[in-house]
Amino acid sequence: MSRFLNVISVAEAVVVAERIAPAGRTETVPVEQSAGRVLASDVVADTDIPGFDRSVVDGYAVRSADTAGASDSIPALIQCVGRVVMGKHDTNLSLGNTECTYIPTGGVLPDRADAAVMVEYTEEAGETILIKKPVSHGENVLLRDEDFKKGETVFRPGRRLTPQDAGVLAACGRATVMVARKPVVGIISTGNELVPAILVPGPGQVRDANAPMLAAWLSEYGCEPRLYGIVRDEREAFETVIARALPECDIILLSGGSSKDDRDMTAAVIAGKGTVLVHGIAIAPGKPTIIGKIEEKPVFGLPGHPASAFVVLIAIVRPLLDRMLGLELPLLRTVKVTLAENIPSQRGREEYVRVRVENGVAVPLFGKSGLLNTLVKSDGLIRIPAGYEGLEKGTGVEVILW
Ligand code: AMP
Ligand code: MG
Repeated sequence: MSRFLNVISVAEAVVVAERIAPAGRTETVPVEQSAGRVLASDVVADTDIPGFDRSVVDGYAVRSADTAGASDSIPALIQCVGRVVMGKHDTNLSLGNTECTYIPTGGVLPDRADAAVMVEYTEEAGETILIKKPVSHGENVLLRDEDFKKGETVFRPGRRLTPQDAGVLAACGRATVMVARKPVVGIISTGNELVPAILVPGPGQVRDANAPMLAAWLSEYGCEPRLYGIVRDEREAFETVIARALPECDIILLSGGSSKDDRDMTAAVIAGKGTVLVHGIAIAPGKPTIIGKIEEKPVFGLPGHPASAFVVLIAIVRPLLDRMLGLELPLLRTVKVTLAENIPSQRGREEYVRVRVENGVAVPLFGKSGLLNTLVKSDGLIRIPAGYEGLEKGTGVEVILW
């Protein structure tokens, strides 16, 4: 690894990656398909929500003062002067003193009513209703605009929409919504030793684990991965597949071949067709990483070791995707816990350690970056900044959860 003399810090690499992020584009999708997408415009309530004061119980709309002191033994006697009909607003319906109307859940509160009594606490005696429990002002009632006010900005751009948001969008009069277009990310696996998952590896061969793993993460993160299969470590093979992927993708990821050995083709191919901006990052795992561009499109060379490729995807490629998606916050879930054991680390490089989280502590899983098992036995990663020489047991850490 002494060949890497000019490694740059993770923070610098992220700046480079963000700087070459292609401009994000937008598209309009039906609200029911918007969950997980990143909002690209303001959403403003076009009406008060709800648009009227309404009951949240089946029962009687009353003036709360008329029910003061009511009980089972001494009920308040109130005259029923009408019925609220669901979905209609009868503007003639108004309560005088000791008057009420029947009201269904969601019915418009009549004029001068300020509360509703559940039918369970009432008894009908002809036109007279016996109310057996007092209600206070506003009880069992949703006020007009209590949810959202007309003209209020309900959501701002950069928000990752949830299923609940789809309900609010519909309530705000939206059938469709403008979101960030999914970045199209091309994935190319490189290596003479690689075979696809459906084949049984022969001597010296390994199955391509990275492409499906990277693609699955990208899909979940809101991108559109596009797989270009496996290429052999030959310059022409690289050039052919990159030429095919470039017009179809916003970003290209090459897995493997990113080191500085003679067999490693990625840097030479990027330099030949475009520019290598970074070759070597002070990150572990993941040092032999390349950031470049060809025809203004970002092209990353990720290390072939699966854990390295995955860490670099999250630490270095993700900020570029965030930029393209217009995300306000990364879509990473994190949890704060304390460390169960000391973790050594090397000053001068940012280290990402896989950890299992159990009972409020993070247990490090030390594993070689060429192994897959720690990626699935762990719950996430902790980041040890470059200035540290390890972290001590009991230190508070933030785990980036898978
Ligand atoms: P490289 O970065 O090409 O030098 O590869 C480093 C190590 O990662 C080698 O042991 C490769 O066999 C392995 N490797 C490379 N690509 C993949 C892949 N797509 N899936 C699984 N292992 C890989
Ligand atoms: Mg290789």
